[in-house]
Amino acid sequence: MGNTRRPITEVVSSGVGGIADRVRGRFVEMKTPGQIEAMRAAGLVVAAALAAVTDAVRPGVSTADLDAIADATIREAGAEPSFLGYQGFPASICASVNEQVVHGIPSPTTVLADGDLISIDCGAILEGWHGDAAVTVAVGTPRPADESLSAACRAAMYAGIERLVPGGRLGDVSHAVEDEARRRAAADGCEYGIVADYGGHGIGTSMHMDPFVPNLGRAGTGMRLRSGMVLAIEPMLTGGTDETDELADGWTVVTSDGSRAVHWEHSVAVTDDGPRILTAPA
Ligand code: MG
Ligand code: MG
Repeated sequence: MGNTRRPITEVVSSGVGGIADRVRGRFVEMKTPGQIEAMRAAGLVVAAALAAVTDAVRPGVSTADLDAIADATIREAGAEPSFLGYQGFPASICASVNEQVVHGIPSPTTVLADGDLISIDCGAILEGWHGDAAVTVAVGTPRPADESLSAACRAAMYAGIERLVPGGRLGDVSHAVEDEARRRAAADGCEYGIVADYGGHGIGTSMHMDPFVPNLGRAGTGMRLRSGMVLAIEPMLTGGTDETDELADGWTVVTSDGSRAVHWEHSVAVTDDGPRILTAPA
């Protein structure tokens, strides 16, 4: 799930998450190597759920069907879906179709059609630790413009992930995401909207923790990255505007111009050996 730009109310104290580290007036939960292993286990559950859902995406399948698959995969692994009941969210995945950017609510009446584009966001809790990841999948025959847009977003995510190294700064991550998105747009001969209203976040004993991770920013600025931090990196790109609206359901975020949107996410640990993607498949 993408965090919003609104101030984060969850404040982390020491406990199962280990040391709470005060950075620029914000608490960032630091993880020990053993705790990062525990988060990898949670991340593997998310990866398995997303793989199962991706396999099931085809014309005629409803987003409620996909939700049931993710929910079953998570529970069979002994984990709990973290989205279900989160601030009242009614499902175990967010399923955002076409012009929906994030936080789409699965429904039996939302039936996928050939040429649709769906972003699936999924989170799980295992032994008190959270994993959070998202993928975008074309339904049936992909449209070339959708494939380029999704590839750009995925590349932007990995560009940000590469910057998750000790001694770097949060602004390096944000800048790398933005820069790669713009570079890919230029290569694709178009402009992509980089959604600024939502972004990545710290993750650990809660899903959304400090710091907020913007998808646009200046290199060399912001919080210093340290080994033991875990951040969810999650760019959202559109084929048009960077402006979004929230639907009357209080959840679904759509592009203001109706252009299609994509969303990719991984939860990643900053380690002395470099970035470790905790939600990558086994
Ligand atoms: Mg997510
Ligand atoms: Mg997230």
